[in-house]
Amino acid sequence: MDERVVDTIVARVLERLASSRGNASSLMPQSDNGLISEDIKAGRVPIGVSARHVHLSREHHAILFGADSQLTVLRPLKQVGEYASEQQVTIVSPVGRCLGPIRVLGPLRSTTQVELSLTDCYGLGLKRLPPIRPSGDHRDTSGITLVGPAGSITIAAGVIRANRHIHMHPSQASVLGLRDRDVVAVRIEGERPAILFDVQVRVAETFRAELHLDTDDANALGVKTGDLAQILRSDRL
Ligand SMILES: [Zn+2]
Repeated sequence: MDERVVDTIVARVLERLASSRGNASSLMPQSDNGLISEDIKAGRVPIGVSARHVHLSREHHAILFGADSQLTVLRPLKQVGEYASEQQVTIVSPVGRCLGPIRVLGPLRSTTQVELSLTDCYGLGLKRLPPIRPSGDHRDTSGITLVGPAGSITIAAGVIRANRHIHMHPSQASVLGLRDRDVVAVRIEGERPAILFDVQVRVAETFRAELHLDTDDANALGVKTGDLAQILRSDRL
C-alpha cells in the first residue's frame, strides 16, 4: 500500500479517537445511548396516539399502487425504521360504507393489516367487531376491502383493534425490570385522569419507549402524542 495512503488512514483514525475523547456520549455503552432518561428511570413514557392505519404486504401494495410504485416517507415514526408514508388507501366495509383516506405505514410487511378504533368500526357498520389484538396476530379476524389509486383488494383476515402496548428498547426494559410481553397498567394524568389496564410491553432493539394508544383511548382521556404516562408495577390494583 502507498505510504501516503497509510499516513492518511492513521491521521483519520487519530482524529476520530481525539474527537471521541472530547465527546462523553460516544464513550457511553451503546445500550445507554440517550435511551435512559430521567423519565424512563421514573417509569414515565411518552404517549404516541395511533390513528387508524394500514400495513401492506408487497403483493397488496403492488395491486393498490401499481407494480413499479414505492412507499415514500412522509415522516419517520419514533420506532426506528418505521414511517408514515405519503400513500393512502380507502377501505370499504361489507355493507358498502367507506372510510378514508387512511395512511399506509412503512416499511412493507409480510402480511397486510388494518388497524381501526371501535368508533371507526361503528362508522363502517361492521357487524362483527374486530378483536383487540397485538400487531401481527390475525387468528380469528375478519377481512375488508382496500382501494388504492391503481386497484383494489379484499383481504380475508387482518382487521384488528390494536391492543394497548408500550414499545421499549431492551436497555429501557431492564431499567424498569420489565420483559417482552409483560402486562402492566399505566396511570394517565390527562383532562380526565385514568388508569389503563392490559397494557402489553413489547421489547426490541429498534423500539424506543412509547405507549401506543388508539384514538378512542386518547380522546376519552383527553391526551395527545407526547403527553406522559406513568407505568404502574402491576397490571391489577
Ligand atoms: Zn405500536
